[in-house]
Amino acid sequence: MKKIMTPGPTQVRENVRMARSLATTNPDLDLEFYEYYKDTCDLLSELLHTKNVCYILSGEGILGLEAACASLTEQGDRVLVLDNGIFGRGFADFVKIYGGEPVLYTADYHQAFDVKALADYLEQDHDFKYAAVVHCDTPTGVQNPIEEICPLLKRYGILSVVDAVASMFGVDIDVDACQADIVCGGSQKALSAPVGLTMVCVSDDAIRAMEQRKTPIASFYANLLTFRDYYKNKWFPYTMPISDIYGLRTALENVKDDKDIHKRHAEIASATRKAVTEAGLKLYLESGFCATVTVLEVPEGVDSAELLNTMTEKYGVMIAGCFDFLAGKVIRLGHMGENANVEDVAMMLGALDATFADMGYALNASMKDVFVREIHN
Ligand SMILES: *Cc1c(COP(=O)(O)O)cnc(C)c1O
Repeated sequence: MKKIMTPGPTQVRENVRMARSLATTNPDLDLEFYEYYKDTCDLLSELLHTKNVCYILSGEGILGLEAACASLTEQGDRVLVLDNGIFGRGFADFVKIYGGEPVLYTADYHQAFDVKALADYLEQDHDFKYAAVVHCDTPTGVQNPIEEICPLLKRYGILSVVDAVASMFGVDIDVDACQADIVCGGSQKALSAPVGLTMVCVSDDAIRAMEQRKTPIASFYANLLTFRDYYKNKWFPYTMPISDIYGLRTALENVKDDKDIHKRHAEIASATRKAVTEAGLKLYLESGFCATVTVLEVPEGVDSAELLNTMTEKYGVMIAGCFDFLAGKVIRLGHMGENANVEDVAMMLGALDATFADMGYALNASMKDVFVREIHN
C-alpha cells in the first residue's frame, strides 16, 4: 500500500473504515436515522463553534461550493469573487452557470488577502449579493483571514460563501465569530473520512436570501433549501448515503476527542516549512501559510513528473503535483488530518530527500533531519 501524503484525500483511520461496514437500515423510512443524521449535523455545528445549521450532502466537496452558488445566485446578481488562488477564481464559473455576474477581485497569489486593501475596494463598490472566498486555497496553500473578511463583507450586507474544504478541522474555524454565511467542507481532507460527502454550514441570513428569491433555484441536487425542513417533515430530498455518514460521524468524534489537533497541525506545518527552506528549496508563498499543506517550487533542472513518480514507485509515498498554471511548477505536501503526524511526515520528507539525491539534485540539508530537530524543539 502506498502512503498517501496528498492534500486530500487523506489516510482514513481504522475506526472510520469499520463504521462504514456496519449493518444499515433504510435511511428514508427509519425515523431513528433522522435523529442520527441530525445529531451528526449538530456535532458539526458544535465543532465549528456555531449556532448555524449544518447539512451533510451526498457528493464530493465541489457539490458544496456549487450548491452555495446555485442556491444564492439569481439572474444578473453581482457576485464578488475573491481571487488569490485557483479555487478562488474558480467560483466565477459557478456564478456564471447560475446566471450571475462574477466580479473578480484579484490579488497577489503569493500571500493572503490584505484586508485593508479589500476594505478600500469595498468602499468604492459594494453592490454585491454575496462574495466567495477560499479559506485555504490548496494549490498554493494560502490561508485567507476569513475572520476579518467575512465581518467586513457583512458590514455592507454582503453574504459570504467560504470554501473551507482544505482547512476545516486542520485549522480552528469559529463560524459565528467569522459571521460566515455558508461554509463548505469536504469529508476527504482534514476530517479524514473517505471521499464522497460535503458538509455545509448555513446562516439564517443565507436561508432568508434563498427564501426571498424572485426565481426558483435552478437545481434540485444543489438546492440547499430542500434540506431546510428535513427533520420536521422526516423527508430527505434523496436517499442519504448511510454508510458514508456512519464513517463521517466516527471521523467527527475522532476530531472531537483529539484536543491537540490544531496545535499539532500548526507545529507540523511550521517544521515542514523550515525543512524545505533549510534544504535550499523555495516555498511558493511569501506569507499566509495554511497549516494543512506545504507548497514548494520544483527547482530548475528537476522534472516534476519524474520526481513524483520516483516518490511513488521507489519509496511508496504519494505526494501531489498541481494543476492549471502551476502544473509541473510546484509540488504539494499534505499534512492534514490523519496525515498530520510526526512519523508519517518525517517518512515523507526522508523519501523526498532520497528522491532529490536519486535525481542528482543536492540539497543543503536533509529535510527529514531538520523536521525532526524542529518538531522536538
Ligand atoms: C479539495 C478541495 C475542494 C474539492 O475539490 P476536488 O478537487 O474535487 O477534491 C474544493 N476546494 C478546495 C480548496 C479543496 O482543497
